[in-house]
Order: sequence, then structure tokens, then C-alpha cells
Amino acid sequence: MDEILFRALDERVRGHLDEVDRLAATTHPARTAVELHRLTTAWRTLLDLHTPTATRRTNRCPVCRTPGMCPVWKVATAIFVP
Ligand SMILES: [Zn+2]
Repeated sequence: MDEILFRALDERVRGHLDEVDRLAATTHPARTAVELHRLTTAWRTLLDLHTPTATRRTNRCPVCRTPGMCPVWKVATAIFVP
């Protein structure tokens, strides 16, 4: 995937997760906010594991090491980028 496109998608997806955390902290009961934060943390961790590196050699996902978009990022983009 083109690095400029990836950076734009990364910014949009992570920005959406940040917004969910902000909304949860201000508008939901504590228990719901905790669970939403757990979900956004899980997504961030998954995205980190599937973020292509400059050399693509340190990433263990075989798809991330190819020019195409990793399925994890396809799902994240479909869900979090309107
Ligand atoms: Zn991947």
C-alpha cells in the first residue's frame, strides 16, 4: 500500500478510536466506558501489530510484508472510515 495512503488511513482509524474513548468517558456510565476503552485498546494493539514497517521485515504478518493492504486494515478501514 502507498505510504501516504496508509498514513491517511492510520490517522482516520486511530482518530476514530480516540473519539470513541472521549465519548465513552464523557457520556457513558463507568462500566460501559471501561468496556469501550478495552475494545479501543484491543483495536490499537491489533493495528500496531499489522502496521507495516519501513523495511516490512520486522512485521510478522505475511500480508503486511506484501504491497497489498493487510486484511486487518481492510476491516478497520471499512468499519472506522466513513
Ligand atoms: Zn497484517
